[in-house]
Amino acid sequence: MTIGVLGLQGSVAEHGRAIESDGDIFRRVLSPEDLDKIDGLIIPGGESTTLTKLIKIKMLDEAILRKAREGLKIWGTCAGLILLSKEVKGGEIEPLGLLDITAGRNGYGTQMQSFSTTVPFRGGFEAVSFIRAPKILSCGESVTILSEYAGLPVAVCTESIMATTFHPEVTGSLGVYRYFKNTL
Ligand code: GLN
Repeated sequence: MTIGVLGLQGSVAEHGRAIESDGDIFRRVLSPEDLDKIDGLIIPGGESTTLTKLIKIKMLDEAILRKAREGLKIWGTCAGLILLSKEVKGGEIEPLGLLDITAGRNGYGTQMQSFSTTVPFRGGFEAVSFIRAPKILSCGESVTILSEYAGLPVAVCTESIMATTFHPEVTGSLGVYRYFKNTL
């Protein structure tokens, strides 16, 4: 399988390593044309304000929306979740609105409050990091909750869009990636 990672900013290399370590082909997505050569797209963590500006400049916003309508599966981690949300609290962000959730930026505080833990996922546990992570403040009816931590959803999906408030790619944990790849 060829999995693309939006390659403009953020934890691109870490996702690339996870993709390759599971025997798949990693493609860095830098232009709308790159979206035609992949079986799934990961929008990585990074800085959502910067990412929203860069996808506009590169004309990737419209292209991602079009590919999503055509059924391309997309997974957003952390800032990627913020980009996929319908509504964002905390800052001037114009999200893509592909997932009916409200995201609150920096939900656990500053960089100093970042932490690693395990979260329940599909009957097991995954080691993940919450790095200046957002909180999912509300979910619409079209959204399925895949994991909760401390009473809040931290992984959600629809038929072809998935979002996690955490990063599994920095811990080498592959369960969430495999769910995206094989089940979504
Ligand atoms: N706090 C960042 C933001 O709001 C997201 C951090 C991350 O992706 N690790 O963009």
